[in-house]
Amino acid sequence: MTDDDLATRKMQFLYALRSKGVTDKRVLQAMEEIDRGPFIRGLFAERAYEDMPLPIACGQTISQPSVVGLMTQALGITARDKVLEVGTGSGYQAAILAKLARRVYTIDRHRRLVQEARTIFDELGLHTITAIIGDGSYGLPDQAPFDRILVTAAAEDPPGPLLKQLKVGGIMVLPVGQSDAVQSLIRVHKTESGLEYDELRDVRFVPLLEGLGKE
Ligand code: SAH
Repeated sequence: MTDDDLATRKMQFLYALRSKGVTDKRVLQAMEEIDRGPFIRGLFAERAYEDMPLPIACGQTISQPSVVGLMTQALGITARDKVLEVGTGSGYQAAILAKLARRVYTIDRHRRLVQEARTIFDELGLHTITAIIGDGSYGLPDQAPFDRILVTAAAEDPPGPLLKQLKVGGIMVLPVGQSDAVQSLIRVHKTESGLEYDELRDVRFVPLLEGLGKE
């Protein structure tokens, strides 16, 4: 790909984001700064700038960029925030969160994905991200509470430990529903008086599974 091709693709990429409702300037800027290319290896690398989910290692997927943008936007991250992401996958979403937040913890049940993501974070100089191997359904009690929590795999209900590890005033965004059906992306606000839920849109994510993956 020539530099001109790359520039054109990037412009189309940003245009697709805007036309699908990603309008927050800071989110668009973060997504312009973080190149999706390095997070996709092999056969599909060429398609990095298309607004499509793509396969990554361990049978997982890197989410569709417009969905990444909408989820990030829904979190309303500020520069003071400590954010937890459950489902590191390729590391792409975590890298974007790192452009907006003070500190990012990201956790995945596949060792291989976490190790590969760590390598890319190092290469990109993203030193505010800590990537951890583990079952993210239990959150990260040692680092809790979090200002924002993003889950990028679908559970039937919001996991209790994650709700507990969210600060009062905090926001959590996650897909809920059966893994083989259409799921809803929901946003949870934790207030002094309890939890408030709103539904954002239909989505399709891989399931939130228990325990560690094989590789
Ligand atoms: N956010 C990722 C895409 C995530 S795909 C990106 O930007 O590329 C969903 C990920 O959730 C997969 O990598 C899967 O291994 C992980 N996952 C599923 N259940 C999990 C659990 N209980 N704890 C941690 N990670 C989990």
